[in-house]
Amino acid sequence: KTTASFIQISDDDKGYPLDQFCIPKHYEEDLERVLIPEGLINDRTERLARDIVADFGNEPIVVLCVLKGGYKFFTDLVDKIKVLNRNSGHSVQLGIDFIRLKSYVNESSSGKIEVIGGDNLENLKGKNVLIVEDIIDTGRTMQQLLELMTSVQPKCVKVASLLLKRTPASVGYIPNYIGFEVPNLFLVGYALDYNEFFRDLSHICVINSTGKEKYSV
Ligand code: 5GP
Repeated sequence: KTTASFIQISDDDKGYPLDQFCIPKHYEEDLERVLIPEGLINDRTERLARDIVADFGNEPIVVLCVLKGGYKFFTDLVDKIKVLNRNSGHSVQLGIDFIRLKSYVNESSSGKIEVIGGDNLENLKGKNVLIVEDIIDTGRTMQQLLELMTSVQPKCVKVASLLLKRTPASVGYIPNYIGFEVPNLFLVGYALDYNEFFRDLSHICVINSTGKEKYSV
């Protein structure tokens, strides 16, 4: 696969008003709008699972979840691959691994990534690795993670990111599998956080100034 395809959400996409969906009471004041409802994420993830299974053929893969933001996309993607595995003639054996990175304080990247948890990456030597991430913004985090990965010599590494941000700050990195290309906005929900808040919000939403103020550090 050379060029990744994705659903493009344009800059003037108004999304959906909050009162058209179910939003936890504790976040009602803190959001501007729903940008991607969980149902749509779910349907898109189903298709990405199909593409991944088709690409990897019969080779086992280790799915590497980038915590914490990637956990919802990771579990939903793995679940969809498992459905395909038990319902079709060929199946892809899955291994599961986790890594925890930290790079953001408030809204801006603090520069270098920090690996603050997870298994020993050495276990990935010789394996087909699928890294699962929530969002690529500048692409620096993923570039650094991929650099780190080369030192453990996996057989192959591919990246699935639910979101790819359209930003002039991009280093040009494009993942292999992309759910949605999104405007240059700060997004929360579906495990994406703002200083650890909003991970318990189902839909991907745009945070408003009240939310930023309330949960800033
Ligand atoms: P990058 O290194 O690509 O600039 O940043 C990637 C990381 O920044 C993501 O893994 C995510 O943790 C964080 N990030 C970037 N944009 C957003 C956003 O809009 N919302 C949230 N919650 N996190 C973001």
